Amino acid sequence: MIHYTCDLCHRQLDGEDELRYVVKIEVYPVADRPEAADPDEDRDHLLELHDALEALDDDGGDDEVDPTYQTMQFDLCSECRRKFAHQPLGRDLTKLLDVSTN
Ligand SMILES: [Zn+2]
Repeated sequence: MIHYTCDLCHRQLDGEDELRYVVKIEVYPVADRPEAADPDEDRDHLLELHDALEALDDDGGDDEVDPTYQTMQFDLCSECRRKFAHQPLGRDLTKLLDVSTN
């Protein structure tokens, strides 16, 4: 049987008696382009086609992995899940770690 360890407090989780919580974090850049917000507005389709063709010329390798795209996954015990829910962005993550390893 697979044993999991809480990524915050490093306590081993007993899969039979204890729920394991999975936190998935996805980080990627977003370019908010106003023209993409409203697809019904009048646009210069010829110019768009031109831009699209130029973009194709620029980078032929569209399947390259974006180095700024990141996914992370953590296993948490119920106690750490509760702490995480209070501070999802981990401003006090180091404090949390200190407290839970004491
Ligand atoms: Zn924990």
